Formats: sequence, structure tokens, C-alpha cells
Amino acid sequence: MPAGVPFVDLRAQFEPMREEVLAAIARVCDAQQFILGPEVEALEREMTAAIGVRHAIGVSSGTDALLAALMALGVGAGDEVVTTAYSFFATAGSIARLGARPIFVDVEPDTLNIDVEGVRRAITGRTRGIMPVHLFGQPADMAPLVTLAAGAGIPIVEDAAQAIGAAYRGRQAGTFGALGCFSFFPTKNLGAFGDAGLVVTGDDAAAEHVRRLRNHGAEQQYYHRVVGGNFRLDAIQAAVLRIKSRRLPQWTEARRRNAARYRDLFAAAGLAGRVALPAERADRTHIYNQFVVRVPDRDRVREALRARGIGTAVYYPVPLHQQECFASLSHRPGDFPHAEAAARDSLALPIFPELTAEQQTQVVDALGEVL
Ligand SMILES: *Cc1c(COP(=O)(O)O)cnc(C)c1O
Repeated sequence: MPAGVPFVDLRAQFEPMREEVLAAIARVCDAQQFILGPEVEALEREMTAAIGVRHAIGVSSGTDALLAALMALGVGAGDEVVTTAYSFFATAGSIARLGARPIFVDVEPDTLNIDVEGVRRAITGRTRGIMPVHLFGQPADMAPLVTLAAGAGIPIVEDAAQAIGAAYRGRQAGTFGALGCFSFFPTKNLGAFGDAGLVVTGDDAAAEHVRRLRNHGAEQQYYHRVVGGNFRLDAIQAAVLRIKSRRLPQWTEARRRNAARYRDLFAAAGLAGRVALPAERADRTHIYNQFVVRVPDRDRVREALRARGIGTAVYYPVPLHQQECFASLSHRPGDFPHAEAAARDSLALPIFPELTAEQQTQVVDALGEVL
């Protein structure tokens, strides 16, 4: 029996850079400066250059990036923020935590990104923000969304947690809205050794606001004009990210190469009719944080793959409008049929950069047997 294929393998990424990472951590230990400080400032400078944006503010997680961005826009009780029904929970959770109401919109049936016409219909006099998600690493359809938002005078906060380095018509995800939010959760394309995140913006005042919010709203220590939180980034995480970010372009290339190889393997195996492969739009650079296929009888398929040693994951089994905590929004099954269908039949296959051609063949062969 073959060794199987893990869903992710962070150790394979760590081993070749072990010495460099441990030296960076040692540098922080020697400096005894653990929160914010020079490592975080250096990471922020490097990220503005890499992402192509004026300001980058290191924060404690992708979730806190979303929260701080919405707080910087003044989103609060009674406000509405329009977002997708199909994403990680934090997208909607950050809206609800501020006392605002997430207004869900269905997704495009193939990309699973937010449907722009749906956004147009969801806007009301209470809408204070639009939050698209660049799901699985492919940017949402930003051109019509930016036009729509500008016309309505509503700011966009991009949830780019899964999309560092992704591009739409040559411009990077996270740089279209008033603010863009990234996550460095360990399994994201650029992962820290713990929780970490980043807010980016081209607006000087918004950047200042987020910097203040990140530190309890204080500009000068112990003097608070606004209420913020502890959204600060640790120096150890920044030091690790600075080492890892140098390799991000090559990892992204490897993910894209793996995705192309899956397409070839599925075509060669004659499985293209039974497995729907992820849609990739011609005007975007998809960075494949996840390679998500659609299969009938997904849970059985997943279990049968597991029995053959193939790791997979489900993103996401329950759409946001059907989460118990949002019961008060009174949604019904069928409200967002494309999101609900995706929750039933989407299955993420291993796509990490170090995945080998042999492992990919194993995944496709196993899927062929199971189907
Ligand atoms: C990972 C993720 C987040 C949250 O990031 P954390 O760093 O885990 O807090 C938010 N939105 C999306 C779409 C994500 O994938």
C-alpha cells in the first residue's frame, strides 16, 4: 500500500529553512522586544513593496484585520455590511461582533466568489460596507464591484485572507478597496508560526486609524481618544514571516504548477466529466490557497479517500446564512442556492507547494477508483 498523501505538509516547508527561521527567532529573543518594534516595522515595509500598496499594518490575526478595518470605517450597531454567504466564518463574524448586520449575497456558481449583481440588489440606505472575499485564492470580480461601490459611496473591505499575491487584471488582491485584510494563519499561502495578520490601505488617515485601533485606540500611551483593541503583532511572528515571505513567489508558482498538473491528470484519467475542477478566470492570477473540486456524494467520497490515505478538507460544510448564530436573520434553505450547493459538494484536494507529481497521480488515481 502506498504511503498516502497528506492534505498539508508544513514540515516539508520548514525543513529547508530551519536554520534561517531559528536564527530569526533567536534574534528576537536576544533583542527582548516581543511586541511590535523593529521586526514588525520591517515586515510592514517589505509588505508594502511586495503587495504594491502605500500602508501595511501588522495585526494579531486575519480576523482582527477584518475587525480593525471595519472599526476604522466606523461600522457599528444598526449598520449593514454586504458580504458573501460562502466563506470562512470570520468574514461574517467580524461584522456581527461590531453590532452590524451581515447582509449575505449568493456566489457565482463556478468561481464561488460573490455575485456582483447580488451585491447591487442588497444595498440599502443602511449599507456601510461591502466585503468581498477572494475565495480559495482567486480574486472576486473587482472591476464592476469597485464601480458599483464608488457609485453608491460605500467603502469596500477586501477579505484577502486566502489571496496574498493573487491578482486581478495585473493588480494585487487587497489593493482595490478602502482597506484590504490578509491572514498569516499557518496554512495560508504565507503562514506564520502562530496567529498573525495584516491590514493594507492606500489612505493615510485610514492607516493612522488602524494603527491606533491596534493598540487600544491610543496614540500616546494611556491616552485614548477612541476605543480599540489589542490587535498587535508579535515580533517573533514578524521575524518568521520576513524569512518566509522571500520564498512566497516560488511557493505560489509551485501551487499554480500543481493546479495545472491536476487539470492534465484529470483530463488524462477521463474524470473531467465526473469531477468539476475549479474555474480560473483568464483575467486573474489564482494562487490556489485551496484547489477545490466538486463531486457528487462528497462525504462518501471523502471517507473513501481517507481510507486510501488521501487527505482532503471541506471548505465549507455550512454556508454562513445557515449558521446557528445567525438564526435571527431568518434565512431559509434555498435563499442562496449556489452557496448551499457548494457546501454540499465541494472537496479540497492537497495542493501545497511541495506536493510531488507522484503524489498528485496517487490522488487522481484514488479519486478515479472511488468514483
Ligand atoms: C483564514 C481566514 C480568515 C481569518 O484569518 P485568521 O488569521 O485565521 O484569523 C478570514 N477570512 C477568510 C476568508 C479566511 O480564509
